[in-house]
Amino acid sequence: MPRHSEPHSPAGVHRTARAGLRLTRGQRRRLSGLLVSAGDVWACVLELNAWRRARQDAPLVSYQGLCRELAASGPGCFGELDSVGARSVLRRYSDAWFAAAARRKKGDISARFPRRRRRMMPVRWYHGIFAFDGRRLPIPVTRGCPPLWVRLDRDLPYPAAQVRSVTLLYDAGRLWADVTAEVPVAAYPPGAEPDRGRVAGVDLGIIHPYAVAGPDGQALLVSGRAVRAEHHLHLKDTKARRRAVARRAPKPGQRGSRRWRRYRRRQRVVEARHRRRVRQAQHEAARTVIGWAAERRIGTLAVGDPRGVLGIDAGRRHNRRTREWRVGHLITALRDKAQQAGITVALLDERGTSSTCPACRARVPKPRGRVFCCPRCGQSGHRDLIAAANIAGRLPGGTTPAIPADVTHRRAGNHLPGVSAARRDPRRRPHHGDARGSPGRHLPAPPTTVGRGVARPTARTS
Ligand SMILES: [Zn+2]
Repeated sequence: MPRHSEPHSPAGVHRTARAGLRLTRGQRRRLSGLLVSAGDVWACVLELNAWRRARQDAPLVSYQGLCRELAASGPGCFGELDSVGARSVLRRYSDAWFAAAARRKKGDISARFPRRRRRMMPVRWYHGIFAFDGRRLPIPVTRGCPPLWVRLDRDLPYPAAQVRSVTLLYDAGRLWADVTAEVPVAAYPPGAEPDRGRVAGVDLGIIHPYAVAGPDGQALLVSGRAVRAEHHLHLKDTKARRRAVARRAPKPGQRGSRRWRRYRRRQRVVEARHRRRVRQAQHEAARTVIGWAAERRIGTLAVGDPRGVLGIDAGRRHNRRTREWRVGHLITALRDKAQQAGITVALLDERGTSSTCPACRARVPKPRGRVFCCPRCGQSGHRDLIAAANIAGRLPGGTTPAIPADVTHRRAGNHLPGVSAARRDPRRRPHHGDARGSPGRHLPAPPTTVGRGVARPTARTS
C-alpha cells in the first residue's frame, strides 16, 4: 500500500490503539449496517472476479480499476456506507490479492487469493474525513443520511493531530474502533540518547517473558507468573464449560439449540477477553523492558529467537505451553516499542545459550530449575539471565557478556484479575488458601446472640 509523507518531516512510526465504543441500540444498528454493507462490497468484488474468470478475462484487482467500478455503480448501492469507506474495502481486497500473488511468485503454493465472503468487513476512514471531539468521533456516512456520532470508551493515547486513520470493526461480539496514529520517534536530551555500542541480551521465556542482561552486570527480570496463572484459569474454565454443555452439543449436521448457540457466543466472548488480557500483559512487559533499556542508554537489544525449534512435537502439554507463549507477539511488541524509542533490535540464534557457562564457556547440562550452576568453575546465577548474557555475547561486534549482579524485578500483567485483592477473579475458587485475590475461607455465620457485645468477625482469621 503506498504511503505518502511530507518531505523533511521528522521520523515517525505508525501505531494503532483499539478502543471500545459506548453505543445506543440505534447507533449499534447503524454501525453494524455499515460493516454489513462493507461485506456486500467485498462480496461484489469477489463475484465480479468470478464472472471475469468464467469469461476467461483477467481479474480486476487494481485499486483504481475497482474504484472506477464502484463509481459506475452510482450512489446508494451500499446502504449508508460512504464512498471513502467502500474504497477502503477495495483497497483491502487489492492489497490482499497482490500480497498473495507476490507470495505465489516466490513459490509459496499455500498462499490463497481472497475468495471467502464475510458478513462484516472492517471499514477505514482517513485523516481529514473525520475529526475527534474529545472522546466523540463522527462516523462518515453517505450523503442524505443523518449524522452519526459515537463515543469511545477511553481517551486516545495519541493527540488528535497525530491520528491518521480510524478503522471500525467487529470482533468477538463487540464493535471496536482501531485508531492509527503517526507517532514521532522519541527524542532525547543531549547525552541521554541510546548508545549503539551499549548492548543488552534478551532471553524470551514462559516464566519470565523477558530476561534482560545489560552492561555492567545490570539485569532486568520480568515475571510472567500472572500471565501463566491466567492461562491456567482460562483452560480450567473452558474445560468446565465444555463439560457442562456437552450433552447439548448438536450431532454432526444438526442445527444447535438456542441454548447451545448462546453458549457458543459466550465462549467466543470469554476467549476474546482472555486473548486481550494476555496481549495487554505482554505489551506492558515489553514497555517495561524498553523503559529500563532507555534509562540505561542501551542502544542495541540482542534478542534470542527460539522460533526455530518450536515446530518440534514435544507432547500435548508442552505443545500447548509453547503455543500459549505467543513468542512471535513478544518479539513484535518489543521490536515496535524499541523502534519508537530509537533502540535497535537484533534477532540471534539462541540455541545453547542457557546451557553455556558465561565465565568458562563450558557446556553444562540444562538446569531443571531457575538456578544455573557450573560444575567446572562454580559460577552460579539466574538461568534466564545467564542465557541473556550469553545472547548479548553472540552479537557480532564482540561484547563480553557481563555476569548479571544488579537485578531489577518487575511483574507483567498487574492488571489481571486476582493479582491484587482489589479485583477478584470469579474463576478462582473461594477456598484458595491465602492466595491473593481470592476471597479466602468462608467465615462462620455471625453469632445470633444480640446485645452481648460479641464482635462480628470482619477480617480473615489466621
Ligand atoms: Zn563455568
